[in-house]
Parts: sequence; C-alpha cells; structure tokens
Amino acid sequence: MEGRMLSRAEFLRSGLLATGGLLFGGRAAGEAPGVPQRGDSVDNLVLDGSEAVGSPFLMRGARNTKRVALTFDDGPSPGVTPRVLETLRKYKIHATFFMIGQRVVESPGLAKEVRDAGHELANHTFTHPTLGSMSAERVTNEIHQCQDAIEKHVGVKPSWFRPPYGSFRSSQGPIARMERLSIVIWSVDPRDWSRPGAQAIQQRILGNTAGGDIILCHDLHSQTADAAPGIVEGLLERGFQPCTLSDLILG
Ligand SMILES: [Zn+2]
Repeated sequence: MEGRMLSRAEFLRSGLLATGGLLFGGRAAGEAPGVPQRGDSVDNLVLDGSEAVGSPFLMRGARNTKRVALTFDDGPSPGVTPRVLETLRKYKIHATFFMIGQRVVESPGLAKEVRDAGHELANHTFTHPTLGSMSAERVTNEIHQCQDAIEKHVGVKPSWFRPPYGSFRSSQGPIARMERLSIVIWSVDPRDWSRPGAQAIQQRILGNTAGGDIILCHDLHSQTADAAPGIVEGLLERGFQPCTLSDLILG
C-alpha cells in the first residue's frame, strides 16, 4: 500500500491510514495538556512522544493544500449545535462532527439535522471516558456503542474515531480498526473548552492554521458558537477551504 494513495473505498475498507503525504503520530499542537476539570470537555493529548511515534493516529493532512478540516466534538448539543449549523449553512461549508453516543440517543433529531445538512458524523465514544487507562473490553464497548447509536438513530456508519482527551494507546489501535474506524487526533487546538472568549478562540485558530490542518472545536460551549462566524470568515479570507475530514484526507 505504501507509496500510493488509497482509493476512498480501499481506505474505508481497511480502516488504516498507510499512505505517503499524511502525517501520523507526533504531538498535537503547541501547548502542554491542560488540567481536566470535572464536567468539562478537555481534549488533552496524553500520548507521550515515544508511544505516539509510528502510531497510526492521524494528526493532519498533507501541507500542499489550502484545505483545512473543521471538526466539532462532544455534541450534539441543543442550543449550541444549531447555531454552529447555521453558520456553516450561511457560508456553504461542511464539517465533521465527532458525536458522543449518549448525546445522540438524547437528541437524535439534532444528530439527523447535522447529517441532513450534509456534514460528516464521526465516533467520539458513548460516554466520553479517558480510554487510555481502560481495559480492552471497556474500550471496545465504548466505541461499539457509539457506532451503534449513530447507525441506529441517524442511519450512517462513521469512518472516523477520535478518543476523548486524545487519550489512546497505540496498542488500542486494533480495537478501533475492528470497527473499521481510523483514529484522528488534531493539529490546531484553540482550547475552546476553557472558555477563553469568542475572540480568543477565533484568534488562536486563525493565528495557528496552515493548509492540511485538522482544527479541533467543541459544539458544546456557547463561546464556540459565538466564535464560529469569525472562524469561518477568517479562514475564507486567508484563502483556506474549510471542509470535512474525508474531504481533507480522501478528497
Ligand atoms: Zn471530547
């Protein structure tokens, strides 16, 4: 497989990222992991460098593009997701939504709205635990239950999986691949979960994004919805083409 691009079908069938031009492993963007707060949504990267090297985790796409993937984690959230959808609709762009299975069960209509608007749905576990410290059986259940919830309530089968907090061991990779999921981290993290203000979220993204980046946001906090128009406008002004993960990686 090495040395040529996989076709989309091959890629989805294999659940593996094994082609040149993509960057795997390494660290997520810039800042050191923050301190998780109770009830907060903190997507820390807890992989240490040595473990991440050579791991099959996708951090970003190739740099020779103006495309950037916009990703939203932890929804669907009534009150926030609809506002994000409205912004994306206004600018006619599509994004990838890493949904928590439990929230899909609670708000199936909203999850369907995301699909109906042409966005990509992806797996972010059923209850958002820290998988890196869990048994293979529990990790399997978390991933499988989310996959089931999205299939049952929305009728689509995700191809992408993002571990909450970026916490996932290389040795756990085969569990995701058994569900034919490819593991995605991120390369631009505005830390919107820490509620730094819409302006700061926007500036952190616009100041750190290059072609091929995977931008991490959360459709869980109102500040992220507040920042969304400025993020999209700023990316477009700079010549970027915000898109789904599949469009960035496979498009
Ligand atoms: Zn999350």
